[in-house]
Amino acid sequence: MTNLLDDYAEIVGAVVIDQLKQLARPLQGMKVVHVNSTREGGGVAEILNWLIPFKNELGLEAEWEVVSGDRDFYQCTKSFHNGLQGNPVLIPPALLKAYEKANQDNAERMRTKLEEADFVFIHDPQPAPLLQLCPGRRGKWVWRCHIDLSHPYRAVWKYLRNFVVGYDASIWSLADFAQPLPHPLYLIAPSIDPLSQKNIALYPDEVHGVFARYAMNPELPLITQVSRFDRFKDPLGVIHAFRLVKEFTPVQLVLAGGGASDDPEGEEVLREVRAAAGDDPDIHVLLLPSDAHREINALQRASTICVQKSTKEGFGLTVTEAMWKGRPVIGGDTGGIRLQVINHHTGFLVNTPEGAALRIRYLLKNRDKLEEMGRKANEFVHQNFLVTRHLREYLTLMIATMQKGVERIEM
Ligand code: UDP
Repeated sequence: MTNLLDDYAEIVGAVVIDQLKQLARPLQGMKVVHVNSTREGGGVAEILNWLIPFKNELGLEAEWEVVSGDRDFYQCTKSFHNGLQGNPVLIPPALLKAYEKANQDNAERMRTKLEEADFVFIHDPQPAPLLQLCPGRRGKWVWRCHIDLSHPYRAVWKYLRNFVVGYDASIWSLADFAQPLPHPLYLIAPSIDPLSQKNIALYPDEVHGVFARYAMNPELPLITQVSRFDRFKDPLGVIHAFRLVKEFTPVQLVLAGGGASDDPEGEEVLREVRAAAGDDPDIHVLLLPSDAHREINALQRASTICVQKSTKEGFGLTVTEAMWKGRPVIGGDTGGIRLQVINHHTGFLVNTPEGAALRIRYLLKNRDKLEEMGRKANEFVHQNFLVTRHLREYLTLMIATMQKGVERIEM
């Protein structure tokens, strides 16, 4: 057994690791390429950061490629994102052209690698056209959708569906998101890496260091939301909720986020957040560098309660991360947050700033309940949302896809 796997065995048990090795046996030496649109920022990059080394450790030959494009490309894909999560958007033909052109350019660059791979996983809409641009492909191609597609703006989905329809399979985070497609659809929830800088246990000194660094009061309860500055994450709703709480009890708020290189709207949302925060000394808007994983870890651990008040959320790794750290999460009643926040057990699901404020006040007053929910949150992540479960499902999918037509897989 290698070191990396040994380390995980300490957390999840040796049996789980043995099972992964057994599952990986028929896949030894297979070339696997994952493609997304950013190496840092956002949940997909977070997942690929551990998934690639883990697959390699299990004997596959995994690589990670990133598509890039010009300003119009990112503008277009951000509009896709907004449209697929339900906003009516009008995308000018020039932007769609930029999207298709960027994919053609990226295909030129990586065609040989993609066509030779045994498995290609394409994440989200940005690189979706690559399949049609690799006519000599010999492996299986899987489209992995990370966003909430439950009520897409139809015109956008109709356009994108043309690129997705030819894949051998697709993966979705929730059954509610899955759209009818003529290939097998798999449900796989994301996960976190408990040994990453973002999630590893920290000494108390490092955790408490955040109070001095951001001029916060270590005696006051700390409410935190970690998120890209994106309207679906509802940072303004969080500030509204915070103000309602502050009328009754002293408290401080951190809104920590950074940009993702494929998200052109972040700066505008950040401006709106700063304007809403005004000169309130108890609201700390932190713009963090993309590698601030340990800092986010410390902030989440220093928090009394974590919030993720999204109005749409594919999964919400920030929820998983906070729960792993034993923090109950007050989350928007939407998408993947519902998989994680079991209402009244691992946190609370809310629909309004008023609802969020009510739940924050309740937990601040009932510290025993807060502790108990935090313990349950940690255990729930341990059972359901760690990398090993995620990897097991990926490997199983790969084997199933190789054995098309076979109804039962004997391992
Ligand atoms: N994240 C980060 N820095 C930031 C904001 C977010 O590292 O400034 C991380 C966060 O810890 C989480 C991921 O980015 O691991 C966000 O994933 P999530 O599924 O919550 O949302 P997404 O951004 O993919 O919509």
